[in-house]
Amino acid sequence: MTSGKKQAFLILSFLVLVNLAAWQAVFYSHFLVEKMEVVFFNVGQGDAIFIKTPQGHQILIDGGPDAAILEKLSQELSFWDRDLDMIILTHPDKDHLFGILETLKNYKVENIIWSGLAAENTAEFKEWQKFKEEELKEGAKEIKVLAGQKIIAGSAAFSILSPFSGQDKTKNEDNEDSLALRLDFKNNSFIFCGDIGFYEEQKMIESSENIFAQVLKVAHHGSKYSTSQNFLDKVSPKFAIIQVGKNSYGHPAKEVLTRLEKSGINILRTDINGDIKVVADGENVEINDGK
Ligand SMILES: [Zn+2]
Repeated sequence: MTSGKKQAFLILSFLVLVNLAAWQAVFYSHFLVEKMEVVFFNVGQGDAIFIKTPQGHQILIDGGPDAAILEKLSQELSFWDRDLDMIILTHPDKDHLFGILETLKNYKVENIIWSGLAAENTAEFKEWQKFKEEELKEGAKEIKVLAGQKIIAGSAAFSILSPFSGQDKTKNEDNEDSLALRLDFKNNSFIFCGDIGFYEEQKMIESSENIFAQVLKVAHHGSKYSTSQNFLDKVSPKFAIIQVGKNSYGHPAKEVLTRLEKSGINILRTDINGDIKVVADGENVEINDGK
């Protein structure tokens, strides 16, 4: 076989395979109960959350502090799958951004979501701008979002809870600029808080948005400057998930763990439980962890 013919054959085989996979997806989606999966990866001290909607949209919120995200994603995606529908960067600190850079280098990303507010003079932030531009040239869309906006992904929807437009700068650190999002699928609800502190929590309480959620991704790795009692009372989660690893900041803080315990909330920590997969069926959530 000439090399030209060989190539045509390979491409044809590939198309047939893709076709089969597509039909399989159509077949299963008609006969199985719709489920959404949310995986809180154990990536050490940092955040990285993978979401698969009932319609199969693949979404990554933050990427953790190093290249470990690539291994984690390969556990969730099929071998040849190099596409993500959406990446969401809560804020450009290294423990959230570095793994996003690795992801942009290795995956084709359709939509890039961030607030556009936070800017940092770091090597990672410069790379973020560079890789983002490259992805946009290849057809990705950049969408800058603020509180009050919504992103629909099939039967799942994100509501942006923070930051607010015209953000005042009386607050003292960039973490407060983190995107906080609520994710709804039928009667399932999640809130992801990035690294926000008391200031933004209070603004969310005062906003008109519904901030009740079954699952709370605890803000800022369990920092003592986040997760106020007032905020916990309003969110009233059944499960609190802390993404945390070895660190010198005292995360998660004893005060926060005590507040969660006293409120009767089940605590899961990536440093103890490993990767935490939450399966949502539209009503209840089921937790599968590495323990
Ligand atoms: Zn962080």
